[in-house]
Amino acid sequence: MTHVVVDALMPTYARYPVTFVRGQGTRLFDETGRVYLDFAAGIAVAQIGHAHPRWVEAVAGQAARLAHVSNLFSTEPQAALAERLTALAGWGQAFFCNSGAEANEAALKLARKATGRPRFVAAAGGFHGRTFATLAATGQPHKHQPFQPMPPWFTHVPYGDAEALEQAVGPDTAAVILEPVLGEGGVIPAPPGYLAAARGICDAAGALLILDEVQTGVGRCGAWFAHPLHDVRPDVMTLAKALGGGLPIGACLSRPEVAFGPGDHASTFGGNPVVCVGALTVLDVIEDEGLVDNAARQGERMMAGLRRLGHDAVADVRGAGLLAGVELVEGLAARDVVLAALGRGLVLTEAGPGVVRFTPPLTATDEDVDRAVSRFGDALEVAA
Ligand SMILES: *Cc1c(COP(=O)(O)O)cnc(C)c1O
Repeated sequence: MTHVVVDALMPTYARYPVTFVRGQGTRLFDETGRVYLDFAAGIAVAQIGHAHPRWVEAVAGQAARLAHVSNLFSTEPQAALAERLTALAGWGQAFFCNSGAEANEAALKLARKATGRPRFVAAAGGFHGRTFATLAATGQPHKHQPFQPMPPWFTHVPYGDAEALEQAVGPDTAAVILEPVLGEGGVIPAPPGYLAAARGICDAAGALLILDEVQTGVGRCGAWFAHPLHDVRPDVMTLAKALGGGLPIGACLSRPEVAFGPGDHASTFGGNPVVCVGALTVLDVIEDEGLVDNAARQGERMMAGLRRLGHDAVADVRGAGLLAGVELVEGLAARDVVLAALGRGLVLTEAGPGVVRFTPPLTATDEDVDRAVSRFGDALEVAA
């Protein structure tokens, strides 16, 4: 494993010491040809695995046909993707942008416009992006610190506490924004009934409910989206990460009654033909290969396997579908375990200082899952 470090790059990331040059399915290869089992999938992005032949062909074909014309013109792939996504959700209209943060920016602006109200309520530990508004929405004060002052419109409440949410929401609340599973905040699934309670609280106050499904959506949690698992329909849902299969795309879906009008919002690249064809192919492959069901099945297998390790270093195993987190005991750093796993040929990520996150491609097989669990057990031995 080697590390490409150049002075020409801003040192924004505390990068792991490996440089990947190729991916195939659930495997990554470094520049020496060493093979790794990828249970990070680019932070829940590579839903259909790396270099899926249908995706490669569709994206290359669209790049050769028409890559970009701006949103001053309509394009067939963008229209098709909007129809496909809203059909999968069973509701809504779509606006396309290029990332999760942008999708959440759109959602927050939409809530302002629809309600005329100034404030938002979000969860402590939540993550919504790195732009000023989405950073302010993010309930992780250490990320705010170097950039103070933040836009002062956000109240943060403990995640999972419906009573605290009810107290924070009032006549000046435009929207409540929540993740169905806190992703970056440590892989914490919403407790049963919490999102339904949030829906009721928003309805009573005339506020909108925004669900940030940037990490939980597109099959990750064993359903196309996580919110139906909680019997809740938000006013606005945001997607990004997995949607493009590695191409940058974000989507903001809203009920038609709270949609933007002409001139309200825009993006130069948002939903261009190449990324939309990529996204359509991701959705097709997930459907044709039964990957939503596979995510549910392999998620069970993976979490059962992780629990069965019964390692002293593990404080908790939790998650939804193929979004799983292992909380480590006090004093053991997730980074050390992730580095040890990398040394054993398993790619994982951290979700906060004490939680190791597992987000493999939804194409993961029994064998992939069993091998990942076993390598993770070895990594715990090395790191603990
Ligand atoms: C990753 C993430 C974002 C930010 O997405 P970017 O594409 O990095 O802007 C927002 N919300 C959630 C829940 C995320 O996991």
